Amino acid sequence: MKLSTSKLPHIGTTIFTKMSQLAHEHQAINLSQGFPNYSPDPVLLEEVSKALHNGKNQYAPLQGIFSLRETLCHKLNTLYGSDYQPKTDITLTAGATQAIFTAISAFIKAEDEVIVFKPAYDCYEPAIELYGGKPVLIQMQAPSYKIDWEEVAAKISSKTKMIIINSPHNPSGKVLQQKDLEQLQQLVEGTNILILSDEVYEHLVYDDQKHYSVAHFPKLAERSFITYSFGKTFHVTGWKLGYCVAPKAMMKEFNKVHQYNVFCVNHPMQVAINSYLQEEKHYMQLGDFYQQKRDYFLSLIKDSRLELTPSEGTYFQAASYKNISQEKDTVFALRLIKEKGLATIPISVFNKDQQDDHMLRFCFAKKDETLKAAAKIINTL
Ligand code: PMP
Ligand code: GLN
Repeated sequence: MKLSTSKLPHIGTTIFTKMSQLAHEHQAINLSQGFPNYSPDPVLLEEVSKALHNGKNQYAPLQGIFSLRETLCHKLNTLYGSDYQPKTDITLTAGATQAIFTAISAFIKAEDEVIVFKPAYDCYEPAIELYGGKPVLIQMQAPSYKIDWEEVAAKISSKTKMIIINSPHNPSGKVLQQKDLEQLQQLVEGTNILILSDEVYEHLVYDDQKHYSVAHFPKLAERSFITYSFGKTFHVTGWKLGYCVAPKAMMKEFNKVHQYNVFCVNHPMQVAINSYLQEEKHYMQLGDFYQQKRDYFLSLIKDSRLELTPSEGTYFQAASYKNISQEKDTVFALRLIKEKGLATIPISVFNKDQQDDHMLRFCFAKKDETLKAAAKIINTL
C-alpha cells in the first residue's frame, strides 16, 4: 500500500532514538539522549509507593489533581511574581512534549506562521506542520547562539500566530537574559501573537545566572503558554509527566484538545509529586547539583581539543570539535560511537537546513564514573 497521503512523509526517527540505539548496539558510553543514569531520590519513590497503595489508581481529574495544581501555581507565583490560578490556568500533561503539542494543535491553523529559533528541540516543527502551519526559522549562530531581535522583527508578518522560545536552551545550553524578554515583549505588544515558552530546564541555571520566565513579565504572560517537565526536575524522564500554564481563556482552548488527546495523566505520580514538592529544597538545590556535574565534566576535559564555553543552563554542554576534524558533525558523531565508544548528538540536526558548525552536544546528567570514562575518550581525540 502506498502511504503518499501521510502528513509527515519527510520526517524520520528522532536523533535521540537513533543515537541511543547506536550507543546500545556499539556498547558506547551514552552522552547523547538527555536522561540521567542515576536513580531519583528514594523519598520520591517512597511517595509513589504510598500513592499506589493508597488506592490512587483510577483516572485523575482532566486538568490534574487540584492539590498539585495548587502547589505548582503557588511555586510559580512565588518564584516569578505571576498570578496563576489552580482552578483555571494549569493542566498536568504527559511530559512537556504533550503540553507543547496540545498548545500548538489548539491554535495553529493552515497558513499560520510560527517563529522557531534554530537550533530547536525537535518536537516543535512537526506539530506545527501537522496542522498546516508554517515554521518560520531563525538560525542562531554558534557558538554564542544569541537571538538577533532585528531579524525577528523582520520575520514577523500579519500571519505570525506564535513565537516559540526555549530557555535554558536545548541544545546550546544558553540562557535568555532579561533584555531578550524585554525585546520580545516590545515586538509582540499590540499584536495577537501567542508565545510558547518551553522552560523545562527552569531550575538548571549556573554561575549565579537567573532563569527569566515569561511568567515574570505580565505583558508576555498574558499571551503565553509555558511548559514544564518533572522528568527534567526530578531525574525521572521515564515518567513522562509535566504541565502547562497560561491565562484562563488560553487554557480553556488547550483543555478542549487535552480532553480528547489523553483526557488526564498518571494519577499516583501526581499524588507523589505533590507531596515531594512540599519541600522547597527538592527543586531549589537542583542548580547546584547540576553545576557540580558540569564543573566536574569540564575539569576532566579541560586539556582536550574541544572548544567550548561552559553551559549556562540545561544538562547539556555544546562543544566544537573543529580542532580535531573537519568532518560533518553527523559523520564525526557516528565515527565517535563506532570507533571510540562514545555517543553524542550532532547539533546540525537541530539547525536550519542542517547547517553544520562542527558542534556536538554532550549530556552531563550522568554518574561521575560515566563522565570520567567519557572524558578519557574525549581526551584522546
Ligand atoms: N523541551 C525541551 C527543550 C526538552 O529538552 C525536552 C526533553 N525533555 C522536552 C521539551 C520534552 O520534555 P518531556 O520529556 O517532559 O516530554
Ligand atoms: N529531551 C531529551 C534530549 O534533548 C530527549 C527526549 C527524547 O528522547 N525525545 O536529549
